[in-house]
Amino acid sequence: MKSCCPEMDLVWVQERDGEELADVLKCLACGQVHTKESWLAPVEYDASKSCVNCGGSRMRGAMPGTPGAECSHCGFTGEQDLHFHEHLKSSTPDLSFSEAAAVAFSAQRRILALKLATAAYRWDEEPERGLSLRVRVLAELGYEDEALDEAVRWVRLESTSQSFLGLAAVQLELGATKEAVQTLRYGMHLAPEDLTLPAALAETLVVVKDFPGALEAAGLCVEQGAPKPILKRALAVIKDIASRYYGNGQFEDAAAGARYAGKYQDRIPELAWIQAQVATFVPNDAEATRWANTVLRVDPTHQGALELLARLAIQEKKRGWLW
Ligand SMILES: [Zn+2]
Ligand SMILES: [Zn+2]
Repeated sequence: MKSCCPEMDLVWVQERDGEELADVLKCLACGQVHTKESWLAPVEYDASKSCVNCGGSRMRGAMPGTPGAECSHCGFTGEQDLHFHEHLKSSTPDLSFSEAAAVAFSAQRRILALKLATAAYRWDEEPERGLSLRVRVLAELGYEDEALDEAVRWVRLESTSQSFLGLAAVQLELGATKEAVQTLRYGMHLAPEDLTLPAALAETLVVVKDFPGALEAAGLCVEQGAPKPILKRALAVIKDIASRYYGNGQFEDAAAGARYAGKYQDRIPELAWIQAQVATFVPNDAEATRWANTVLRVDPTHQGALELLARLAIQEKKRGWLW
């Protein structure tokens, strides 16, 4: 690329170019445009009928040459649509559409990212990744209403835990945390068997500092025997909140919070250690000893637990002298 000035400052910016949107590589120092890529952009996209290239409408599955087979706006058939987008990511053929979209997005080529994310939503095996990227790009481009509309439509179209998680992600992205909480609660009501929803709810409630609510949601995952990846998220929430309570001097709350981890307290030294320390305040030496030993089973060099046991042993001895 030819230098425009001694200190080039190249960035991708987005501009409107007639009916199209453009990724423009511009030098901020002198204003010279080095590259301009204009595209029809699917700002509005309805998964059930839209053309990926432009967002226009086409009948899914219509045979070529029959009415509705071509996009009412750009004229692409479904096949041309796919070929065109494969061409768009031809420099990285091994990447999926969503991976290519993420690369374009981090390079600030937002219009290209929008097109590839839409292709991911349409053709990738995990369409929700494409959707969530679409939403991020739309929000960054200032199309926030469109982003939200789209996620709401998804939920209406299919009330699955995935769609609720998708909508909640959009809402969190847009800073609408309260609405995200509502969405997740509603999702839990409709799809109680998928414990990803309470796990996500617990994490979201931590953000808004509703610790009792977060503990309850996380505790539900533990109680219902959630699969490992979900369980891990739930236990992380419980550990986080119990530690916060403990750090604030709310010892009873900390102990009660830790109990939401149920039998897993025995395997998480931080939680067992909270129980050991709280037992010394009660004081309940037998409990404190039991929990300190639990800590040492998982973490044999835990300094605090070793010291606590030594101290309790000395006290025991002193009592022995007194009696
Ligand atoms: Zn320049
Ligand atoms: Zn079209």
